[in-house]
Amino acid sequence: MAYITLNRSNYFYNLDLLSKRAGGVEKIAVVLKDNAYGHGLKEMATLAKEFGVTKAIVKDDIEADMIDNMFEMILVLFPKKESKYSQTINSIEQLKDVAEYSTIHLKIDSGMHRNGIDEDQIEKALELIENKKLTLEGVMTHFRSADDLNSDLFWQIENWKRIKKRVSDLSSQSPLFHSFASSSLLRSELIDDFARCGIATYGYSELDRSFGEFGLRPVMKLWAKRISTRELDSYQRVGYGRVGNIDKKRVISTYDIGYGDGFFRHDGLSEFKIDEKRVVGRVSMDSISLESKDDKIDLYADLKDLSKRFNTISYDILVKTSHRLNRIII
Ligand SMILES: *Cc1c(COP(=O)(O)O)cnc(C)c1O
Repeated sequence: MAYITLNRSNYFYNLDLLSKRAGGVEKIAVVLKDNAYGHGLKEMATLAKEFGVTKAIVKDDIEADMIDNMFEMILVLFPKKESKYSQTINSIEQLKDVAEYSTIHLKIDSGMHRNGIDEDQIEKALELIENKKLTLEGVMTHFRSADDLNSDLFWQIENWKRIKKRVSDLSSQSPLFHSFASSSLLRSELIDDFARCGIATYGYSELDRSFGEFGLRPVMKLWAKRISTRELDSYQRVGYGRVGNIDKKRVISTYDIGYGDGFFRHDGLSEFKIDEKRVVGRVSMDSISLESKDDKIDLYADLKDLSKRFNTISYDILVKTSHRLNRIII
């Protein structure tokens, strides 16, 4: 069976690097949403706790329940109405709906226009928070182009500073402010109480190259095992359909991973390589054939290359990794 290895020391290295940038481990929250970006929620939560992280962010209450009691704060991005965890509030409607005495993080739109209340709804929101006796544990925003090489981020940071001041002036509570995700933390100095770190903790960054190399270390390897090997000659084909032609005598092995495991389906029409070995023919549901004799291959050996090949980003590839695969911490 294909399996996953999670490298503990690489993860700790990344957490250490990010903690130092943020000014201490208490100033980072690990983003463990979507099964910890495909790495495995329980496994990554256990490691983060061991490192000393006290704040975690997950997608929903199902994920929060899986790591209950492991962190001082568990923030749910899309909470159910009666959630016992810290709840992200994305709109005035949701604020009206939330149960009395809940603990919330109010999201305020500072320019991304995706989620959060508008700046001019702050007074209204604080009034509702007061009336419903909610604990305003946090106030947050999200940046739309922290990855890109332009000044957009700084325009949004200015908006955010204005928002923070307005909330501080008007609120009777002292919430924790947070806005930075991985990219902002890597390129700019933290201006809040903590940063929400996702992709960088797993060892990747989608920041423009010109921001430099940060030396992050990938945590996950996805290993597929060799099922069979054969020697094929020209005019023979590998796999489904009329693709996967062999040009001359070549040794081809088939490995036990495919799009059923969350790996991308490839149509076999263009050339691509995994760990420098050529993929031959189409990617099937449970298998992939390569020009190789190795007993196992690491599908994520060059994730950057892979994401370019599929016209996507590292997040997208990682998060699709099947939750059914066995995960081993090394
Ligand atoms: C996913 C997410 C993050 C983490 O972003 P990275 O780029 O992976 O660090 C931070 N904040 C919010 C609101 C998110 O949804």
